[in-house]
Amino acid sequence: MRLLLVEDDSMIGAAAQQGLRHEGHSVDWVRDGHQGEAAVAGGSYDLVLLDLGLPRKDGLTILRGWRARGIKVPVLIVTARDAVSDRVAGLDAGADDYLVKPFDFRELLARLRAVMRRGNLPRAPDDFSVGDLHFETAGHRVVVHGEALPLTAREYALLLHLARRPRTVAGRGEIAEHVWDDRYDPLSNVIDVYVQRLRRKLSVAGAATEIRTRRGEGYELMPSTS
Ligand code: CA
Repeated sequence: MRLLLVEDDSMIGAAAQQGLRHEGHSVDWVRDGHQGEAAVAGGSYDLVLLDLGLPRKDGLTILRGWRARGIKVPVLIVTARDAVSDRVAGLDAGADDYLVKPFDFRELLARLRAVMRRGNLPRAPDDFSVGDLHFETAGHRVVVHGEALPLTAREYALLLHLARRPRTVAGRGEIAEHVWDDRYDPLSNVIDVYVQRLRRKLSVAGAATEIRTRRGEGYELMPSTS
């Protein structure tokens, strides 16, 4: 998933970004309210992690503004404000969920999954199959003929992105946005390198489902079971 983290605390922000990237998410991190608004206006995020106490503009004000303008991006408030009245205000302002700091990282991940399940985004169920690839998203596993593919977090994220819309071309720009983030170098061929690696692993595992190249357009996953 492509996530936006709006958080002014350096320690929490760095830890959350690192942890979420380790889970295979693409994470852009901004540190004040104005940057958060600009990022959502200019990007297509699957979910926003929003602190409330932010420099330049309060998180609650930002969230009310998005909802008033019909911006439906799922928002998980992550804040130290723990009073019941704060939680109610956050949910009433249009948040999808609310997590109080300090939090256990496993709970953050579980809440992300829950928000995505409830969301109106194009998404796949927790476990699903594309051709002879079986995805177990909670465990980040892809099973082929009973064996889990040995995938890195980013290889998994790339394969999952293609699998969410099989037989549909994903361009390099779209893949970069959703699987990489501000670490992506548009002049590099890193996406092509990852696709080659995935193809090798699929081939070694005997998968019939394959990643096809659409010249000048991008890549698509073609489901097959034989
Ligand atoms: Ca803060």
